[in-house]
Amino acid sequence: MRYAIVTGGGSGIGYTTSIKLASLGYGVIMGDIAPNIEEKAKSVREATKNEKVIGLHLDVTDWDSCNAFYNKALSSLGIDHVDILINNAGILRDALFVKMTREQWDQVIKVHLYGAFNMTKQVVEGMIKYQWGRIINMSSISWKGNVGQANYSAAKAGLIGFTKTLAKELGKYNITVNAIVPGFIDTPMTAPLPDKIKKMFLERIPAGRMGRPEEISNIIAFLVSDEASYISGAEIEVTGGFSQ
Ligand code: NAP
Repeated sequence: MRYAIVTGGGSGIGYTTSIKLASLGYGVIMGDIAPNIEEKAKSVREATKNEKVIGLHLDVTDWDSCNAFYNKALSSLGIDHVDILINNAGILRDALFVKMTREQWDQVIKVHLYGAFNMTKQVVEGMIKYQWGRIINMSSISWKGNVGQANYSAAKAGLIGFTKTLAKELGKYNITVNAIVPGFIDTPMTAPLPDKIKKMFLERIPAGRMGRPEEISNIIAFLVSDEASYISGAEIEVTGGFSQ
């Protein structure tokens, strides 16, 4: 059995990805800062009849939390490495740049960029040892620039560079590293956006609707499979045709 860590696994894309991977027979370790992560993992276990699904507290911004999370995952499941990492945890702290605070900048950079660094460092040695690995970084179409998101765009662009560099460094160990670039997806992250903003985006999406989180999970499931063994360093847009 292969094991996957899904950060931000308790909500939105992370949750549907945990269900998808568990239903395909992967062991899944769902990590989230939200306090209900163990209940969420229980619901995935029940829905998929897969006992190898656990939920653990995780703050991806904090190295010690990532290290404790990884060690607890290994000991709880009786494994010595994890094969797949989905760096998915995310937040928005939108503001026009002239009004953006240092806290808003720091929080977003920490969750997305430090988070990907902290978690990838936990898993990479085990992947190298076993000469197999899959790392998926969740970017966003906003990496190309979006008003009110200087922090988020910078972080998501940073993840593209991180992805392409790791793909070059880790390819020889049979580890692929890819970025997913979602467009406008219907999750708790986008739910609070004002109707005016939603309407503005919808008018620019050729598909004429928001994406469903399952439509992101489907491409993740393919990228972590053996079938995707020659895809690495790619940024894959899943946007219903929308582009910035
Ligand atoms: P979501 O429903 O808000 O889920 C994100 C999860 O990450 C939440 O459970 C959140 O917990 C958790 N999280 C936040 N900070 C964390 C931390 N420090 N450590 C661990 N977990 C943390 O969002 P989503 O829409 O599924 O987004 C998933 C990923 O896709 C994000 O990276 C996002 O940037 C990216 N994305 C989303 C869209 C979209 O349209 N939805 C588009 C492009 C890219 P709390 O709820 O407690 O904060």
